[in-house]
Amino acid sequence: MKYDYDVIIIGSGPAGFSCAMQSSKFDKKVLVVEANQEHLGGAWINSGTVPSKALRETSRIIQRYQNQFPDEAKEKPYAKYLMGDLLSYKDQILESKNKKVEKDLSKNEVDTYRGYGKLLDKNTVEVKNWEGEKKKFTAEYILLATGSHSKVPEGFEVDHDVVLDDNSVLSLTHIPRRLVVIGSGINALEFATTFSSLGTRITILSYTSKFLPFLDGDIAAELNKVLTESSIEVIQQVRDLAISVNDLRGTVEVMHSIKNDKEKGRKYVLETEHVLYLGKKLPNTAGLGLEEIGVKTDKEGFIETDATFKTSVGNIFAAGDAAGFPRLASASFSQGRIASCEMFQDDNTLKMPEQIPFAIYSIPEISNIGLTQKKAVEKGFNAAVGRAFYKNITQGDVSNQKVGLLKIVFNQDDFKILGIHIIGERASDLIHLGQAVMNLGGDIRYFIDHVLNYPTYSEAYRIAAFNGINFVHKAGVKYKKILK
Ligand SMILES: Cc1cc2nc3c(=O)[nH]c(=O)nc-3n(C[C@H](O)[C@H](O)[C@H](O)COP(=O)(O)OP(=O)(O)OC[C@H]3O[C@@H](n4cnc5c(N)ncnc54)[C@H](O)[C@@H]3O)c2cc1C
Repeated sequence: MKYDYDVIIIGSGPAGFSCAMQSSKFDKKVLVVEANQEHLGGAWINSGTVPSKALRETSRIIQRYQNQFPDEAKEKPYAKYLMGDLLSYKDQILESKNKKVEKDLSKNEVDTYRGYGKLLDKNTVEVKNWEGEKKKFTAEYILLATGSHSKVPEGFEVDHDVVLDDNSVLSLTHIPRRLVVIGSGINALEFATTFSSLGTRITILSYTSKFLPFLDGDIAAELNKVLTESSIEVIQQVRDLAISVNDLRGTVEVMHSIKNDKEKGRKYVLETEHVLYLGKKLPNTAGLGLEEIGVKTDKEGFIETDATFKTSVGNIFAAGDAAGFPRLASASFSQGRIASCEMFQDDNTLKMPEQIPFAIYSIPEISNIGLTQKKAVEKGFNAAVGRAFYKNITQGDVSNQKVGLLKIVFNQDDFKILGIHIIGERASDLIHLGQAVMNLGGDIRYFIDHVLNYPTYSEAYRIAAFNGINFVHKAGVKYKKILK
C-alpha cells in the first residue's frame, strides 16, 4: 500500500464518525485523529446536541407535570428540584454514548489516535499529542471534520461562573432564578424555553433586528404567544454589552444599548443571576495548515466544498460544522457519509437532498422543511395552505397540549407539498411523515386517502390536508375534481 491509510479523518464528531463507518464498510483502512483526550464523538455527544437535549427533556417533563397537576402552592420548579438531580442521567447517557462510539469504531476496525491533527501536505497529517510528541500518517484521502466553536464575545468574558456558555451552563449546581441569554440563534431559544420551564425568568438579548427570521409567519406568531405567556422577553439589536457583578446587591448587571434606539445612546441595565452567552459559531480551522496546501476557505474560515464535500484540493474533503451551513449533527452525519461515498464508490451519485428538515428543540418544539408560505408565493407558486391546531386534534386534548400548529404549504395546481411548518409537541419527529410524502412526490391528498393511527399528533396532517382542500374547494374548484 502506497499510504498508511486509505483515509485519515480529523475529528470524531458526527461528520468524522459517519465517514469512518461508511469507509470501513467499503473495506478501507481508516484512521480517526481526535484532539479530545478523553472522549470521542465531538460536540454531538460531549458538549452540544445530546447533553442539551437531556436537560431539555427533563424540563419538558416537569412542565407537562405542572400543567397536568397544577401546584396549589404555585411553587416554581427551581424551588423544588436540584439541578444535579435533573442532570444526573445526562452523565450516564454521555458515558454510554461515548462507549458506543468507541465500540462501533473498533468493531469496524477503525484505528484512532489522540492529538491535534494538521496537514503537512495533501497526503500527510502530522498529529501532536498531549505530551508534545509528533507523529506523521499518510493517506490517499483526508476528511477535515474538526467542528466549530463560539466566537469570543466583545466587551465581556465567559468565566464559566457568572457568564456561562452552552457547555458550562450544563454544569450549574442550581436552577437560576434569573438568566439573561445572549444570542440570536436557535440555541438561544432552546435554552431560554428550557430554563423558563423550570421557572427561571428569562431575557434574550439578540444582536439581530429580527429574532429567527427564517420561521414561517404563522409559526413565528404562535411562538410569540408562547414567549409572551412565559414572560420571556426578547430584546433585539443589542449593542455595547458590558457585564459586571454588583456585590452590594448580590446581582449581575448586564448593560447594553440598542441600535437605532429612539433615545439615542441610552444605556439599559438588566439585573440577573447568570448570563448565558451563545455566540456565533466559527469553524475550528485555524492551525490546520489549509492555506499552505491550498484548501480554500471563506472569510470566516469555513472550508469551501462542492456538493460531495470535496475541497479545492481534490483528495481532501471537509464535512460538518467546519464546512459551514447548516452546522447540525443531523446534516453532519449525512455529509460525512456522502464524502466517503465520493472517495470510494465509482460513479457516486449520493448528494445532500435538496430539502432537509430543521428542528428547534425549544419547548414547544419547532420544525420545518421546504418553503414558507411567503417564499412559495415569491417563487411564483399558486400556493395555498392547510392548518391544523393541536387544540383541535384529539391527541392534543389527551396530552393536554393547547399550543401547537401544523401548517402545510402546497401548490393548488397539483396539491404537491411545498413546505411543512410545525410548532408543538413532537414537531421534530412529526416533520418526517410530511418529509417522506413530500420527497416521494406525494401530495396532501395522501393524508386523507390513507388511514393514520388515532389518536396521534399525525392526525394534524389529515386535518391540515382537509383544511387546505376546503380552501381550494371554496375558491371554486369542484370537490370531485379535487379528489380525482
Ligand atoms: C448546545 C448545542 C446544541 C445542539 N443541538 C443540536 C441538535 O439538537 N441537533 C443537531 O442536529 N445539532 C445540534 N447541535 C450542533 C451539533 O452539535 C454540531 O453541528 C455537530 O456536532 C457538528 O459535527 P462535526 O462532526 O462537524 O463536529 P464536532 O461534533 O464539533 O466534532 C469535531 C471534533 O473534532 C475535534 N478536533 C477539532 N480540531 C481538531 C484537530 N486539529 N485535530 C484533531 N481533532 C480535532 C474536536 O475535538 C471534536 O471532537 C448543537 C450544538 C450545540 C453547541
